[in-house]
Amino acid sequence: MDCLFCKIANKEIPSKKVYEDEFCYAFEDIAPAAPVHILFIPKEHISGMGGITPENSAVVSKIFEAISRVAGDMGLDGGYRVVSNCGADAGQTVFHLHFHLLAGKPLGGMCSIGG
Ligand code: 5GP
Ligand code: ZN
Repeated sequence: MDCLFCKIANKEIPSKKVYEDEFCYAFEDIAPAAPVHILFIPKEHISGMGGITPENSAVVSKIFEAISRVAGDMGLDGGYRVVSNCGADAGQTVFHLHFHLLAGKPLGGMCSIGG
């Protein structure tokens, strides 16, 4: 399958790794929208929010555990935002499930990431 984030998770394409475990991989976004902009992805291919099923949804809780751990380790005491763009209207550009972790400045009242 020709999927950019599968290739990043498999280390076929280089990325700046922030965190990794058996289930998920986290790396710095190539075009950061905030001083901290990290992408969290499942290692297995899931196309996006619509691809989450009872069979694979456990990885989502693993990703959220990882986000909480990384945010804690980074000391993001000022707060942070977690965003997942789902489909064309939301500006999803990579069709492998991912969660943006944004922090490091006041993020405003609206989400505007990706697209
Ligand atoms: P989306 O727009 O689908 O919500 O988010 C995709 C994100 O992936 C964007 O924020 C974009 O900057 C990031 N991205 C796209 N290609 C690459 C890449 O090759 N490496 C990294 N590290 N990030 C990428
Ligand atoms: Zn993939």
